[in-house]
Amino acid sequence: MTSTHETTAPAELDPANPFAAPSTLPYGLPDFAAIREEHYEPAILAGMAAHRAEVEAIATNPEPATVENTLEALERAGQLLGRAARAYYNQLPSDSTPGLEDVQERLAPQFAAHQDAINMDARLHARVRTLADAAEAGDLDLEPDTAYLLEKLLTRFQRSGIELSPQDQDTLRDLNARITSLEASFGRKLLAGANEASVLVTDEADLAGLSADARAGARAAAEARGQDGWLLEMQLFTHQNVLASLENPATRERVQAASMARGATGGETDTREVLLELARLRADHAQLLGYEHHAAYIAADATAGTTAAVNEMLGRLAPAAVANARREAGELAKVSGAPSGSDGADGVAAADWSYLNEAVRKERFNLDDAALRPYLELGRVLHDGVFQAAGLLFGLSFTERADLPGYHPDVRVFEVFDSVEPGEPDTGLGLFLADLYTRESKRGGAWMDSLVVQSDLLGGKPVVVNNLNIVKPPAGEPTLLVWDEVTTLFHEFGHALHGLLSDVRYPSQSGTSVPRDFVEYPSQVNEMWSWEPRILKSFAVHHTTGEPMPAEWVDTMLASRVWGEGFSTTEYLAAALLDQAWHQLTPEQVPTSVDDVLPFEAAALAAAGVDFASVPPRYRSTYFNHIFGGGYSAGYYSYIWSEVLDADTVQWYAENGGLTRENGEAFRRKLLARGGSQDPLASFEDLRGRAAEITPLLERRGLV
Ligand SMILES: [Zn+2]
Repeated sequence: MTSTHETTAPAELDPANPFAAPSTLPYGLPDFAAIREEHYEPAILAGMAAHRAEVEAIATNPEPATVENTLEALERAGQLLGRAARAYYNQLPSDSTPGLEDVQERLAPQFAAHQDAINMDARLHARVRTLADAAEAGDLDLEPDTAYLLEKLLTRFQRSGIELSPQDQDTLRDLNARITSLEASFGRKLLAGANEASVLVTDEADLAGLSADARAGARAAAEARGQDGWLLEMQLFTHQNVLASLENPATRERVQAASMARGATGGETDTREVLLELARLRADHAQLLGYEHHAAYIAADATAGTTAAVNEMLGRLAPAAVANARREAGELAKVSGAPSGSDGADGVAAADWSYLNEAVRKERFNLDDAALRPYLELGRVLHDGVFQAAGLLFGLSFTERADLPGYHPDVRVFEVFDSVEPGEPDTGLGLFLADLYTRESKRGGAWMDSLVVQSDLLGGKPVVVNNLNIVKPPAGEPTLLVWDEVTTLFHEFGHALHGLLSDVRYPSQSGTSVPRDFVEYPSQVNEMWSWEPRILKSFAVHHTTGEPMPAEWVDTMLASRVWGEGFSTTEYLAAALLDQAWHQLTPEQVPTSVDDVLPFEAAALAAAGVDFASVPPRYRSTYFNHIFGGGYSAGYYSYIWSEVLDADTVQWYAENGGLTRENGEAFRRKLLARGGSQDPLASFEDLRGRAAEITPLLERRGLV
């Protein structure tokens, strides 16, 4: 079905291409000193061709299907593609070039077609089915990880539509193509709409309270568009950051109104028609595959399992969050100089919330980022914080390998050692690459990637990367962090540990290969160690005087964590509930008129009890890019789902003595090491001794 692509793929990869053979560097680290931009595309195309040939050989094997010649053979297939694609998709967001971006545009449809060709291969499916039938009949004994692999493989075939009639398969393909194009259209309209919604201020007095930096930025933004004045540009979420500092209530109101109107102003940038069609086609797609609606289709392949489980969790959190937000509103209304509210009894207009909140924060938690920073030096946070916690918990140690080059001079490579018992020799476990500084070629945010995945089958040891966006100080100056960056470092390292401590047989089950509503859980858990007194004391030390951070500052930081949780939980939950509301519709239930979009949204929020005008959803339907423009449809609940598990695990540590080697060992063996080799919730229950409970999260967020 993709013969046009095959003709562009070179039959043989130039042996001089660094991806042509497995890397001979330690742990199979890609040879970045030799890899150049032009090596990626031919290696990936040759990798696809090789993978397709390997799969063809498995599908046409005259021998009857066995675990070895089918399941294991599939796991072994595609190694050239794997090593080239992993290196490429690591470099694309972290050190991009226009050339690498072009490659992505060319490769994206080919990857989709490649995956489709495998998932829709009826001969392959028949072999896998034979094994499943034999196992069911008791004629084939499978190890638990193999049984789980088989189950997931069949699910993937089924969800690709392999069991449908040829006619329905055509319909499914058309739906997929139309959905992809609508998502892209939503994203384009959103971007254009954001530009349109920017607020132009012509009288500088209206910007009172805004910092000099922010003003200069707004000035430059206006100039860039040939406008006279200051342009306040829109961020994706509802609640714009400038609202915290703008002193003029009328300016705040303009910003808030412009933000909330995005996508529903009529004309070219109106997204309502697109989102209605998307909701309907996704429901069609789900029903074709035998699910009631799109949300059921998504939940079935996540740890949540059913929409009932998602609804129950959101439903338990929502009333507590809104009650807390109302309590916060009451406190904000007491701030001196608070404008009389436009929200009736609640007293705080959405546009004023951040500004008043900032006033309370300053008064109660007099914490100054500038004063904290000298106590948060990057090297100390990394070695005496992040690495030390991993040492005390899991027995890991880290040695920098300056002899191993990364893909950019800023990348630092560490070899990770696993000390099994005190006194025993350390065993090399894998590599950890730290790419922590921001640069123009790196996209925003923080994330983890894998260059080599652990697997016993292929003998792979993990090579993982953490990316952050810390501003690089001038040469010779220390890198001083803000607290958010410290937490982010611990968070991303939690993902790294998931990859590094993986101990599975099959590469497809390695480390972070778990559902979306589970993958944030280990990383969120690792954040707890940044607050652990023993660890904090060790890394939060003044970088020149060596003095520890004053204890009362630490107390204030701890106390300030709960403040504002009513607001942030409510705005998040409102968005998550909207996502579910749109995607729990059958095709017939999706409204047909663009005029019904906002009333539908209002009714859904009211039904869920989160219709609190002072705290609008983090995203309204008309600019909810996660669910209508990208891959988080019916999955926005995942963040808080993971956090339920996280908070319950933090409590488990507390009940069992906190930071001990024994607890670390249990978390490692029962949870991190298992990766995706069994139902992830089974791993959790194995660790916790019971199913997850929601109370620890409610307590953490001050919602009880
Ligand atoms: Zn994360």
